[in-house]
Amino acid sequence: MNSLFNRIESKREELISFTKELVRIPTVNPPGENYTECAELIGQRLKKRGFAVHYERANNSPGDSDIYPRNNVIARFEGHSSGPCVHFNNHIDVVVPGKGWTMDPFEGIVSDGKIFGRGTCDMKGGLAASVIAIEAILEEKIDFYGAIEISGTVDEETGGYGGVAFLAEKGFFSKPRVDHVIIPEPLNVDRVCLGHRGVWWSELETFGRIAHGSMPFLGDSAIRHMAAFLELIEQKLFPVLEQKKTNMPVVPVGAKKSTLNLQSIHGGEEESFDGMPSPCVPDSCRIIMDRRFLIEENINEVKAEIIDLLEELSNTRPNFNYQIRDIMEFLPTMTDKNSKVVKIFSDSIKDILQKTPKHVISPGTYDQKHISRIGNLKECIAYGPGILDLAHQPDEYIVIDDMISSAKVMAASTLKLLGVNS
Ligand SMILES: [Zn+2]
Repeated sequence: MNSLFNRIESKREELISFTKELVRIPTVNPPGENYTECAELIGQRLKKRGFAVHYERANNSPGDSDIYPRNNVIARFEGHSSGPCVHFNNHIDVVVPGKGWTMDPFEGIVSDGKIFGRGTCDMKGGLAASVIAIEAILEEKIDFYGAIEISGTVDEETGGYGGVAFLAEKGFFSKPRVDHVIIPEPLNVDRVCLGHRGVWWSELETFGRIAHGSMPFLGDSAIRHMAAFLELIEQKLFPVLEQKKTNMPVVPVGAKKSTLNLQSIHGGEEESFDGMPSPCVPDSCRIIMDRRFLIEENINEVKAEIIDLLEELSNTRPNFNYQIRDIMEFLPTMTDKNSKVVKIFSDSIKDILQKTPKHVISPGTYDQKHISRIGNLKECIAYGPGILDLAHQPDEYIVIDDMISSAKVMAASTLKLLGVNS
């Protein structure tokens, strides 16, 4: 292993420049900009190193258009005979930079042992580390059975429909093609992420009747109806959620409880001409709810908690009318801590970094849901450099030493998963 690790260390400058190249392609999603360019950067690089490279556009998936095509890249390197396949799956999309940056978010500025930029942490740094790890194995000319795959996939930040979900439907994340999947999301170098909580997004609308704002008694305020619902969940639902605790090792600890985020609220007429409001009683009010739930909870019960309160209002509050619509739902997933991929990565962390590996669960979902649900593959973890808290923040960065450390763990674990003893 020493020669392999030395090689990874010697590739430090290459790792930095590849990360910078990736950051300089602003793959902002939504809407899904520059996916093709980014997929081709990865594909062309791996092709030069002997990978069979394949592009898959998710035609007609949400957001797909000729301006914003959902282009994914999958690269495969075959060992000298058949055996297991280890796959590194990286999402190439990043969220909008947002406000508060003290530098250009798409420059990839290197300073103080870190690379700064949108997506460095989540997760182009992890992508670059996995590519360098595998390239080091190939340069060392280590013989292995089976195959190694690296993919660059789109739309993780918006549900993964045109990325991993699309590919999983086509069998890219199922046996016999693939046996173990590692997703280099920024969970930090000494942690193996086994899965994530569940999620249910819904839109709730309350209805009223429009009337002149000077005579609200002639109308019926949809906002007051919504306020009644919000008051009811403050009294009855939030205290219940506070009490629900999971045995899943979710980090941070606040996310070991069930949570509900009231994500947005819109009600009444739009303000017009320079923000002047129109004097009307609101006939509609909408909220978006983001409910995160635990492996111990059942999705039908999660939904019933909300519906029951709405029905209570329907029965007790005059003219309370509502409509609720599902936007998205994914069940919690958790890989067995005794599975091969978890054990091997945990051992590598201990051996190489001399740290006690921690098994964690992510508060939010990521593409593992599609691999487990559609691909029916349970040998899947997230492991990668970066601090989760920095994801989606201004002045996001990745520590270069962490990328190197994680590349060593990835390379050593890949060889063990492929049955190479060295
Ligand atoms: Zn991510």
